[in-house]
Amino acid sequence: MESFEAQTCPQCGGALGQTQGQALVVCPFCNAELKRQLTAIESTERVLQRREEVMPTVERLMARYTSHFIAGDKQGALRMMEAVQYLTLSMTYEVDELSEREAMATPFVKDTAKQLGVEYVPPHRREEAVTHAYVEKLLETKVSFLQEA
Ligand SMILES: [Zn+2]
Repeated sequence: MESFEAQTCPQCGGALGQTQGQALVVCPFCNAELKRQLTAIESTERVLQRREEVMPTVERLMARYTSHFIAGDKQGALRMMEAVQYLTLSMTYEVDELSEREAMATPFVKDTAKQLGVEYVPPHRREEAVTHAYVEKLLETKVSFLQEA
């Protein structure tokens, strides 16, 4: 049996109760913050849960991508794919904020830019950060030359 499966706080020995599915457990007795290694099944469940949360946004971004692309606005299209890339990475790699994934996302977005035949300037170089708020704002922005569906 793993030490943590014994469900006691390694700091004070208090009973931790149910810890299944929790990556961070706070001891109710001494308030110690204890990192817990998720089991393979728990990790998979979390990925699937995040995927469910993220997919509606990804679909909206993909629709925007198509609109921009059809309108010949390749930079606009690239912005949508950039956001898609960050969200896709956030499904597998849990992060507090999407911007933490910039180093991972940039090569993928660069590839997309190459396919579109445009230059890609990563967020930090254009003094922006791809965050959840940024993505929301991106989706709120009207595509002026297009009829919104
Ligand atoms: Zn404790």
